[in-house]
Amino acid sequence: MDFGIKGRRAIVCASSKGLGKACAAALAEEGADLVLTARTAETLEATAEEIRSKYGVNVAAIAGDITSEEGRTAVLKECPDPDILINNAGGPPPGDFRDWSLDDWSKALNANMLTAIELIRQTVDGMQDRKFGRIVNITSAAVKAPIDILGLSNGARAGLTGFVAGISRKTVANNVTINGLLPGPFDTDRLAATMAPAAKATGRPVEEIYAERAAQNPAGRFGRPEEFGAACAFLCSDKAGFITGQNILLDGGSFPGTL
Ligand code: NAP
Repeated sequence: MDFGIKGRRAIVCASSKGLGKACAAALAEEGADLVLTARTAETLEATAEEIRSKYGVNVAAIAGDITSEEGRTAVLKECPDPDILINNAGGPPPGDFRDWSLDDWSKALNANMLTAIELIRQTVDGMQDRKFGRIVNITSAAVKAPIDILGLSNGARAGLTGFVAGISRKTVANNVTINGLLPGPFDTDRLAATMAPAAKATGRPVEEIYAERAAQNPAGRFGRPEEFGAACAFLCSDKAGFITGQNILLDGGSFPGTL
């Protein structure tokens, strides 16, 4: 299937590693030109070069913090009129809500709700004028099945999801879709990092906890980032213009509900 996005311009936030990188690679495989972002310039440039040489598309690497005004401005200066926007940022830390100050909440809301809303605000009308736009927000399975220790993530991502539920039903009239992709456990650095505290607390090797958790998933394994990237590329394709306001769970079947 030709996804029909060759030569389209895509901003992929937080994309030097993990799920963002997988989305970038899948879009590049379909011929989209990319603007990638991450805070660490060296890793970002290495990823940009890897994608450039593998897929032959144009890739700009803009190092900076996408949750800051400065970071967003630099990205939009490089690409003021994207056709595709993939919103992503690091997730907030786990913990007990009793320990979180308003400042902790403010940081989580900024990173996982308001940054995406601000990037949508600055790009969506141009997409509507040009009659093509695809926006994908990388959120979390926690939007559908909240995880108690991830209260900051549950709250911030649910806020973004609620906001998008409203506007995505308007923008679709101009062929601009906005959807959420909800990762369950995917094999990335972030996932590995979440296992370190459990290993420390129980005195068991990380590898043992990793294998145990992978086996607990109905698929018997964690998700592969490229599986996430492929779903993202499809949502960004010209074939997906009738899908908007949806929140698509990629979790190997962990969520036990019928719908
Ligand atoms: P990852 O492997 O740790 O990669 C995170 C990427 O984002 C890196 O490229 C990182 O580069 C960049 N980044 C982080 N904060 C940034 C910022 N403020 N500005 C710009 N770039 C930033 O993480 P991942 O597993 O792909 O997770 C991506 C998102 O999905 C996170 O929000 C995570 O909470 C969520 N999620 C992941 C899973 C999973 O199983 N993997 C499950 C549910 C939800 P720098 O550090 O250099 O900036």
